Amino acid sequence: MTVQADTRLRRLPERGSQDFDLACSIIDEARICHVGFTLDEQPYVIPMALGRDGKNLLLHGSVVSRVMLNLTGGLPCCVTITHLDGLVLARSAFHSSMNYRSLMIFGSACEISDLEQKNRGLDILVEHLAPGRRVELRGSTRKELNATTLLSLPIEAFSIKSRSGPPSDAASDIDAAVWAGVVPFRLITDEALDAPDMTMNIPLPDYLRTL
Ligand SMILES: Cc1cc2nc3c(=O)[nH]c(=O)nc-3n(C[C@H](O)[C@H](O)[C@H](O)COP(=O)(O)OP(=O)(O)OC[C@H]3O[C@@H](n4cnc5c(N)ncnc54)[C@H](O)[C@@H]3O)c2cc1C
Repeated sequence: MTVQADTRLRRLPERGSQDFDLACSIIDEARICHVGFTLDEQPYVIPMALGRDGKNLLLHGSVVSRVMLNLTGGLPCCVTITHLDGLVLARSAFHSSMNYRSLMIFGSACEISDLEQKNRGLDILVEHLAPGRRVELRGSTRKELNATTLLSLPIEAFSIKSRSGPPSDAASDIDAAVWAGVVPFRLITDEALDAPDMTMNIPLPDYLRTL
């Protein structure tokens, strides 16, 4: 695959990485990615669910959706994932920042149409959303499979940028009478809500208690 994207970091290159395992950890922790592409000179950035099968990122959607139709046709895309890890509050606005891990993957996706592989890929997407859930669900019907496009994007041309740690204040600001430090951020779940039309009294599965 030839990817034209320039993945060299120019601003703060020391925050960059090409580490494949780090890229995978950013993907595996994410529940959402943003898929960017250009159509008729208009850029679009679409939020989507994701999964990972080894060295490939998986995306799925309706066969009739614009994003799926165009990516299936080989339109180059850029998938971005960002984890916000903290607000970095320096003693000046200029040095205030954020702690984060961010990944951009460039390339063209391939459709997975083989039924066995498609089922497997969709299972990966379900497991990515709620690990442990797939075994509880019925298999997809042929009609559901036909209505769904599954795409695979190689995790080959990518860049990572991240920041961690305390603020980097200017020496002249260190004695300022203002609080400085990091407010850590993390994604948490709230208590699960039963579907109102659940006909049986089914307790919350363990895999959701530990999500
Ligand atoms: C958290 C999250 C996860 C999602 N996961 C998936 C997924 O895994 N697969 C999937 O197919 N879709 C997913 N969606 C829906 C997805 O964002 C698109 O709406 C959908 O894929 C249709 O895309 P399209 O290119 O066909 O849009 P079209 O319906 O052709 O878009 C037409 C116009 O509608 C507007 N529009 C479309 N989508 C959005 C949006 N999400 N927010 C604001 N405006 C919008 C834009 O102006 C766009 O140009 C997800 C959405 C969210 C928020």
